[in-house]
Amino acid sequence: MRVLGIEGTAWAASAAYYDTATDEVSIETDAYLPESGGIHPREAAEHMREAIPAVVEATLNEADGPIDAVAFSRGPGLGPCLRIAGTAARALAGSLDVPLVGVNHMLAHAEIGRHRSGFASPVCLNASGANAHVLGYTNGRYRILGETTDTGVGNALDKFTRHVGWSHPGGPKIERAAEDGEYVDLPYVVTGMDFSFSGIMSAAKAAVDEDIPVEDVCFSLQETVFGMLTEVAERALSLTRSSELVLGGGVGQNARLREMLTTMCEERGAEFFAPEAHFLRDNAGMIAVLGAKMAVAGDTIEIADSRVDSGFRPDDVPVTWRENSGG
Ligand code: ATP
Repeated sequence: MRVLGIEGTAWAASAAYYDTATDEVSIETDAYLPESGGIHPREAAEHMREAIPAVVEATLNEADGPIDAVAFSRGPGLGPCLRIAGTAARALAGSLDVPLVGVNHMLAHAEIGRHRSGFASPVCLNASGANAHVLGYTNGRYRILGETTDTGVGNALDKFTRHVGWSHPGGPKIERAAEDGEYVDLPYVVTGMDFSFSGIMSAAKAAVDEDIPVEDVCFSLQETVFGMLTEVAERALSLTRSSELVLGGGVGQNARLREMLTTMCEERGAEFFAPEAHFLRDNAGMIAVLGAKMAVAGDTIEIADSRVDSGFRPDDVPVTWRENSGG
C-alpha cells in the first residue's frame, strides 16, 4: 500500500509518502517560524495555506506512481491550521478517488516509535509542544496513564524562553544553555501519575528576574521537568509490567531527556527506543505510517464525517490496526 500523509496541526506544513512494501518514508516539511513571540494561530494557518500545496506536490513527485490512500492529522492541534490541512487532504483524496484516513496526531507520535522499534506493546511517553502524556495500550485502546494538568511540556519551555527574550522554539536554546549550568532548586510537581509545569515555569521566570544565572535555571529546568517525565514513565512501566518504552514528540529531541530515560530503563531491565529526530518533531511521515496501518485495517472515513477535532484525545480512538486490538 502507498499512502500520502498530510500534517498541519501547528508549525509543520508537512507531507509524506509511505510504501508498506519497502517501509520507505519520504517527508517534505516547511516549518513556520514566528518572527517574534510564540506560535500565532492565524499566522500559522496562513503558513499552512501557502506551504501545503508545495509540500504535497513535491511528495507526489517523489512517490512517482499511484497512491492508495490519503491520511491526515484530524487533531489535536490549532483549529485554523487543522481545517486547512484537512481541506487539502479531502480535496486530494477526492481528486485521486482514494480512501481518506483521519489520524490522531498524538497516536501517530506514539505509533511511529512502536513501528520503528518493533516493540510489541510499549509504554509511550509523548513529550511534545502542546502535549505531555504517558500512554499504555489495553483492551483495544491507548489509555492515558498520566498527563499534564496544565500546559504541554514544550510550550512550557517556550514560555520561559520568551520571558528571557529568546526566539522560538525555546527547547533547543535551553538545551544549549544548560551545558554550562548548575542546579538550583525548582518545584517538582508530580501528583499520582499526573504532572504540572506552570508552577515550575513561574519559579524559573522569578529566578532569572532575581539574577540567578540563566544557564543555572536552564540546567535546573531540564533536571526537574525531565525528572518528572521519567518518574511517571517508570511508574507506568511498573503498573503495566511492560519492559519496553518508546519516546515521541519534539521535546524528545533533547539529549538529556533521552539520557534520563535510558538510565531509568537500564536500571529496571527495560528496553528504551527513541525514533530519529525527524520522526520525533511534528512530521507527516508518522501520519502516513499510521494512516497505512489504519487503511489496511479498513479504518477509513467518509469525507462527510471527516471534520477536524482540535481536542482529539488519544483515548477517543478505537484501535483497529493492532493484532488482538480487541483484547
Ligand atoms: P504537538 O505534537 O503536541 O502538537 P507541537 O506541534 O508543538 O506539539 P512538536 O514538534 O512535537 O510540536 O514539538 C515542538 C516543541 O519541541 C517545541 O516546544 C520546542 O521548543 C521543543 N523542542 C524542540 N527541540 C527541543 C530540544 N532539543 N529540547 C527541548 N525541547 C525541544
